[in-house]
Amino acid sequence: MDLRELYQDIILDHARSPRNFGALSEPSHLAHGHNPLCGDKLTVFMKIDDDHITKVSFEGRGCAISTASASLMTQILTGKSVAQADAVFAAFHARVTTGAAVEVASDLEDATERLEPLTGVRTYPARVKCATLAWHTVDAAVKGGVLGTTIKTE
Ligand code: ZN
Repeated sequence: MDLRELYQDIILDHARSPRNFGALSEPSHLAHGHNPLCGDKLTVFMKIDDDHITKVSFEGRGCAISTASASLMTQILTGKSVAQADAVFAAFHARVTTGAAVEVASDLEDATERLEPLTGVRTYPARVKCATLAWHTVDAAVKGGVLGTTIKTE
């Protein structure tokens, strides 16, 4: 199996059985995200304690890329600090839009490696919004707080 097939399998696995799918009962932060270009819609729920992300979940409907990205994201961000989440998103965003490999702190290398399967979308600009929707939504949740904000990528 070549790398491309392996990446495809990882994306399909997460798209078919998304991890941490469903609302959190008492989120401290949440936000809604919408990617009108593709029709992806999701809500991100978070529990943030003292700048540490103790729980992240999502629900919604979207294409395989947006669902797989959200699923991987919930796994990666659980247990991270808000600053670490920002750093992982910045590196992923650069990688997925420009192809550049961004250096991250050694304790975040594992996180950026786990996102590699999604970085193939950079050759399909329309899909970049799908891959980054969940991350933009988490960013909005962290900044918007418990009342929730709605973001629309364009
Ligand atoms: Zn999509």
